[in-house]
This record gives sequence, structure tokens and C-alpha cells, in this order.
Amino acid sequence: MSDQSRPATTDPAPSDVHNVVIVGSGPAGLTAAIYTARANLEPLLIEGEPSSSSDQPGGQLMLTTEVENYPGFPDGIMGPELMASFRAQAERFGTDIVTAKVSRVDLSERPFKIWVGPSEGPPTYLARSVIVSTGAQALMLGLEAEQRLLGHGLSTCATCDGFFFRDQDIAVVGGGDSALEEAIFLARFGRSVTVIHRRDTLRASKIMQDRALEHEKISFLWNTVVEDLVGETSLEALVLRNVDTDEVTTRPFGGVFVAIGHRPNTDLFKGQLDLKDNGYLLTQEGTSRTNVEGVFAAGDVQDDWYRQAITAAGSGCMAAIDAERWLEEQGH
Ligand code: NDP
Repeated sequence: MSDQSRPATTDPAPSDVHNVVIVGSGPAGLTAAIYTARANLEPLLIEGEPSSSSDQPGGQLMLTTEVENYPGFPDGIMGPELMASFRAQAERFGTDIVTAKVSRVDLSERPFKIWVGPSEGPPTYLARSVIVSTGAQALMLGLEAEQRLLGHGLSTCATCDGFFFRDQDIAVVGGGDSALEEAIFLARFGRSVTVIHRRDTLRASKIMQDRALEHEKISFLWNTVVEDLVGETSLEALVLRNVDTDEVTTRPFGGVFVAIGHRPNTDLFKGQLDLKDNGYLLTQEGTSRTNVEGVFAAGDVQDDWYRQAITAAGSGCMAAIDAERWLEEQGH
């Protein structure tokens, strides 16, 4: 689908139309805000509502503890503190940040329309360009204890947190490529890595299976699900159930990595922006451009591969520059 032939409508009143509306406030969105604000585009950034179960203002770093791999912080920095710095920097250059749940967007004609709150009636905001940076969510097991122990022994990112589990017994939940990639990475640090998979056949590619199955530090618990996480302030053990025998055991682990997939936050854009087969937003290679002219995407909503804060920030910068140049071409 391409909108190249789609006619652009006339702006209602130029002053009512924002140059750039950024949806999402993780590293990608806030970096896009810093760059577009410094380009005098007076961006409006809409961050989700903390009360909403699907929103996470500040993005996934708000759910982590220490971040040691973000360049510029040799002693590490707490995830929420890093995002507060991003936000302060975006505000310093004049970004208007509103906290609200976007309920609907209409990207079928320009100016683009964005509703927060009720999705009926006139749109809340009009925009000449939109940067989508709504992120992704790591899928979780749905256990109550996950909220308590996330960042305290439970993680969804080995690249981010593996280092903290040196010489410990580590569990990885899942049987796909992510789980095995995490397991192989974690085997560099941990004393042992146990992959816990709910079936007896892996979903991962053959090459990853071979690497993991042959690895001396990695072992597998087949047909096993995690029933609970034990530990009040940090993870101590996992309660496991064998799905064949129903036998329940408790086994100590210093860390558990849940790697059962990610879900990009694309619901608002389905049917309007092209998606890849796996549900992530499709951007033109090497750019942040989507199939709709004037709409750009950055960060984890379009990145199923790197998924790092630094790459999200980098792609937010790309989207800002792409939007700036596009607006200039349009005479704004
Ligand atoms: P996948 O969807 O491929 O795998 C998810 C795994 O988690 C499956 O084994 C699934 O079990 C298991 N699972 C799902 N839900 C639950 C649950 N509630 N409880 C327990 N287990 C659960 O996701 P990935 O993130 O692994 O991969 C996503 C895509 O990215 C894939 O296309 C993959 O190939 C690609 N990728 C490629 C890499 C590489 O080539 N190096 C690295 C990482 C990802 P079941 O098998 O029973 O469904």
C-alpha cells in the first residue's frame, strides 16, 4: 500500500496544526522530541497514561533497574533516571508533553488527525507530520510475582541485565530463537543456564538449537512451565510444573529471563500503516519513513532485531531528521 497518489488536503488554519506530533515517550520518542524541538518545530509529544495497563510512559526502561550499557554513563544509571533526563532535555528545548491515551488516529489525509479520550467528535490534535514511537512490550507469563520481581532477578533482556548474574544459576523461559539467543549469551556469565520450555520441541531455528543443545553450560527442562516466582525483594527460586506428570518442584535460581516474545504497540495504526509479517511497523530500509508520506516510525515499534535503548534513541534521531527534511520539502 502506498499513499503517494493520495491528495494532500489544505490545512484548516495553520496555527491549529502541529508540525510534528510524536506518539510515545521512550528513548525513541524523546530523542525525536529533542531533535525536532532544536529544529524549532515545536513538537507535541503524547505520552501514555501510567494508569493504563497498555501504556508505559518512558518506555521499557522504566521497568528496569540499572542500565550499564547506555554510553555516557560509565558508572551506570537507573532506567527511570535515564528517562527523566531524556524528558528534561526534551522539555528544555520546548517540547510540549501531554499525558493522555491516544484513542484513534486518522492518517488517511493531511493534516493527520489524532484523538485522545473519546474517539468520536472532532480530533484533539492535527499534525503535518507524525512520529510513531509507541514501543513494544515484552510478553510476560502473567504471574502476580512478575510485577514485584521485574528488575530484581527477573528480566526480559539478557543484553541489558546478563552481566548482573555472574556465577549464578540462571533460568530462561521459552523455546524460540530469542530464548536460545539469551541462553547462549547468558552462558558467558552464569554458572549454569537452564532453558525451561513448555513443550519437548524447540521452536527456534536449527542452527540456534544446535548451538544451545551442544553448549556445556546450557541444559533443558522440557514440558515444564513456571507456576510461580519465589522471593520478596529478589528472586530466590522458581516453582515449576511438569505438564506431563503434573509434578511440582521448587528449584533455586539467581535470575530468570522471560523470552517468550514481544508485542509491538501497533493497534492504533493497523489498517493505516503497513506492518511486517511479524506485526512490527514497516519502514523503508535505512530510513524511518512508513508507507504514509509524512508519518515516520522509530524505536521498538519498528525494530524487531536490536531492541536496545541506544538503537531506539538513534532511530528517534533519524525520524526527527526525516520529518524535518520532509516538512521543509512541503514548504513548512
Ligand atoms: P517466538 O514466538 O518465536 O517464540 C516464543 C517462544 O516462547 C515459543 O517457544 C513459545 O512456546 C514460548 N511461549 C510463548 N508463550 C509462552 C508462555 N505463556 N509460557 C511459556 N512459553 C511461552 O518468539 P521469539 O522472541 O523467540 O522470536 C520472535 C521472532 O524473532 C522469530 O521469528 C525469531 O526467529 C526471530 N528471532 C531471531 C533471532 C536470530 O535469528 N538470531 C533471535 C531472536 C529472534 P511454543 O514453542 O510452545 O509456542
